[in-house]
Amino acid sequence: LSKKYDYDMIILGGGSGGFVSSKLAAGLGKKVALIEKNKLGGECTNSGCIPSKAFIKAARAFNEIRNLKNYGINIPENMKINQKNAIGYPQNIIKKVAKEHKADVLEKSGIVVYFGNPVFSDNHTIKIKGRTLSADKFIITTGSSPFIPPIEGINKIKYLTNEDFFNQKNLPKSMIVLGGGAIGIELAQSLNRLGVETTVVEMLDRILYKEDKGLAVILDENLRKEGLKILTKTKAVKLSEKNKKIILTVTDKNNNETILTADTILVAVGRKANIEGMDIENAQVKVNKKGIIVDKTLRTTAKNIYACGDVVGPYQFSHMAEYQAVIAVMNAFLPFKKKVSYNNVLWVTFTDPELAHLGLTEDEARNKYGKNIRVYKWGYNNIDRAVTDNTENGLGKIICKKNGEILGAHYLGQNAGDIIHEAQILKSLRHKLSDIQSVIHAYPTYADITRQMGKKAYIDKIMDNIFIKIIGKFRRKK
Ligand SMILES: Cc1cc2nc3c(=O)[nH]c(=O)nc-3n(C[C@H](O)[C@H](O)[C@H](O)COP(=O)(O)OP(=O)(O)OC[C@H]3O[C@@H](n4cnc5c(N)ncnc54)[C@H](O)[C@@H]3O)c2cc1C
Repeated sequence: LSKKYDYDMIILGGGSGGFVSSKLAAGLGKKVALIEKNKLGGECTNSGCIPSKAFIKAARAFNEIRNLKNYGINIPENMKINQKNAIGYPQNIIKKVAKEHKADVLEKSGIVVYFGNPVFSDNHTIKIKGRTLSADKFIITTGSSPFIPPIEGINKIKYLTNEDFFNQKNLPKSMIVLGGGAIGIELAQSLNRLGVETTVVEMLDRILYKEDKGLAVILDENLRKEGLKILTKTKAVKLSEKNKKIILTVTDKNNNETILTADTILVAVGRKANIEGMDIENAQVKVNKKGIIVDKTLRTTAKNIYACGDVVGPYQFSHMAEYQAVIAVMNAFLPFKKKVSYNNVLWVTFTDPELAHLGLTEDEARNKYGKNIRVYKWGYNNIDRAVTDNTENGLGKIICKKNGEILGAHYLGQNAGDIIHEAQILKSLRHKLSDIQSVIHAYPTYADITRQMGKKAYIDKIMDNIFIKIIGKFRRKK
């Protein structure tokens, strides 16, 4: 410990980034404190990944029961959903996961936990609840909050965000979901499945605009078939409340107005970095519109302060917060600096079926490499496991350079979020797609989909071989 300071490192924020960085720093033998303003576990545990995935599971279970007749099982005609239990289930799961996110768990690793609102005095000192604490290094990992768009009347009505969605005691009869991104669509599908009349309002021309267009369009069709209402190219312009109903005025691309009504509205249009209230300017930490400014080593504009997670971006996922946290801690303490790389970023939208995303989409790859790409596709209808499971609705797509180097991989279908990791291993370890064709896969499994695309790539590789080309030419001449 540097004698000058109380701690080697103080970490601000006890979410995904804060847990990983504090445990790693303590593991390196450093004296560490963590300060949390609200609840340990952060967004992911308390109002993000965990409750949303639990809610999705509840809705999915009900949907599966409804479809049992596909397997020859009769279900009672008047089967009812207990909506109260469905929205209560995520709370039980939060409690289960939060057991691992208690102060005593961190304290067992030697980390001192403080609760309160830290305010920087300078780049080595903060004040919290009247106490002054100093540290050699800091990590700021204070996460993000729902962005509330400046729609006329929004401050006069009661709206939900992910922060209070899971605290509902029961589900309403109808809900408008503002925003067709991952958070909005995951929750909207589940609400609709649980019997809530749900309408998604999206300003862009399609939902899930960051996703590969081909796959997002198939998912959109699936969702509409289930009964979810999706309005694209639709802008929310005015909100009010009448007789306990939310009234939303929207406009289409020609500026024609329509009035939508519902019992409540969920706002899920984006995130904003949590940078307020810490006086970070006192520590010479600079910010921009997106959050804290960091260099490639995750160092802020103050040389002893690093930052990671949603407060930095650009990819706001738990696994990215964890990835960055390791780099931030190592760079804070070690002389050799490691740079972040976003070449192999992946994520999953946990709709049913799941939509998994790695690297470039087909459009992005075409924009960057023109015709010098190859796109391999394999339908779930050609995967025997999907046929036996009645989950044939799905598609895998892998985009490669002409030499077989993987640029992107996208899967829509059952278990897509797990399957994608085979493509991730190939891509991250710089294997060609064709390398997987000789790797033995168990039959019948969903994972085989990547090997099937690998077989196609292998054929291309053989056909590209100069000797094969010469022999082919020679034969044609004969
Ligand atoms: C509905 C929803 C579903 C999601 N699903 C997924 C998913 O399936 N997979 C996935 O990877 N990601 C998902 N995410 C995103 C994921 O939750 C975030 O990317 C992740 O939590 C970011 O971790 P973090 O440590 O940067 O921030 P957080 O987890 O938000 O932690 C930041 C912590 O800092 C605290 N804090 C804030 N200000 C201060 C301050 N001034 N001083 C001290 N502490 C402070 C906060 O209270 C919080 O505990 C989802 C998000 C939402 C909203």
